[in-house]
Amino acid sequence: MAVPLLDLRAQNLALETELKAAFERVLKSGHFILGSEVTEFEKEIAEFVGSKHAIGVSSGTDAILMALMALDIKPGDEVLCPSFTFFATAGCVSRVGAMPVFVDSCPVCFNMDPLDAAKKVTPRTKAIIPVHLFGQCADMDPVLELGRKHNLPVIEDTAQSMGARNKGRGAGTMGEFGTYSFFPSKNLGGLGDGGMVVTNDDALAEKSRLLRTHGSKPKYYHKMVGGNFRLDALQAALLRVKLPHYNSFTERRQANAAFYSGRLSQVAGVVASAACGVGSCACRAEGAAGAKLILPTVLPGNDAIWNQYTLRVPGAGRRDSLKKHLADKGIGTEIYYPVPMHSQECFAYAKQADGCPVASQLAGEALSIPIYPELTPAQLTEIAESIQNWQCG
Ligand SMILES: *Cc1c(COP(=O)(O)O)cnc(C)c1O
Repeated sequence: MAVPLLDLRAQNLALETELKAAFERVLKSGHFILGSEVTEFEKEIAEFVGSKHAIGVSSGTDAILMALMALDIKPGDEVLCPSFTFFATAGCVSRVGAMPVFVDSCPVCFNMDPLDAAKKVTPRTKAIIPVHLFGQCADMDPVLELGRKHNLPVIEDTAQSMGARNKGRGAGTMGEFGTYSFFPSKNLGGLGDGGMVVTNDDALAEKSRLLRTHGSKPKYYHKMVGGNFRLDALQAALLRVKLPHYNSFTERRQANAAFYSGRLSQVAGVVASAACGVGSCACRAEGAAGAKLILPTVLPGNDAIWNQYTLRVPGAGRRDSLKKHLADKGIGTEIYYPVPMHSQECFAYAKQADGCPVASQLAGEALSIPIYPELTPAQLTEIAESIQNWQCG
């Protein structure tokens, strides 16, 4: 039985009638950029994530870019960001002319290692961007503490983790800014690009709204140089159809993750990562040496929304062997992410002496398997059994 990594049709076609009604509403309104659909969607997201302000934008990437612009990050500044993540985080730092300073990862939660971040602060450091990767929050207390200590604003890249919680706090609401993406593969996936910036700070919210439309207020009078970072009314209307279903999508992702972890932990040589000590990511995956597979682990204090279920497959060539074994059975997987940011050609100018060894290791071991809400019990069983039957090393 073939199982794709992600099946967007399963989710969207179940909502076809409501999505078509939203399309017709926007078609008939004749209003396509910002407007009431966007304003209502912003209110709904602010309430959902627990933030004072929400500002709809054109993508998750533009959300990060706009937050950096609102904080006046500029050439000569350094910004701490993880190496093991999607490109957009460091890419936006580079686009405002600042230097991305790559921070190593925690091998258990895959997120920014706060101890390594602390070591990389210099007098030029002007912001920290933790990424809440694969659906769970970075260990935020030490990150926020580092920010307070050095007076650095924190931008939480929450593209993969809307609705996740860290010690009860909503992902994206703990720092100066939270940024979200509605790219189709995110847990709240649109029918195109879209994003959101949230903040509890009135002045930063006001400035972000100006930056979203070329920094103009009133129209044609420009206080600052912004961009076109606007969200379409149509995208907002479609996302408003999906948002009320978000918690049920998350519950199904959580159930799928629990199923995999329950099944796979029975297999000889499969281990869960050693749990982190609460309050510090200074953990190492002890006990995982010689493991056949290492299962993803949710940190104590975290509620995960499982954007990805990411295995670690240690040992040279073994990850690619498992990927091929599953592909031969028609099961889709993906390597998020094969090349850490500190090894990217375009960031050669940002090379650091000490590198990010855990990020490099994770890039060689990570394999994400299907986790989307609409997976059937038969598909889940097929995937788990196929992994169990894999013979390698
Ligand atoms: C998807 C993603 C982004 C970018 O979002 P887009 O909407 O695709 O621009 C940024 N950061 C992370 C961690 C992401 O996963």
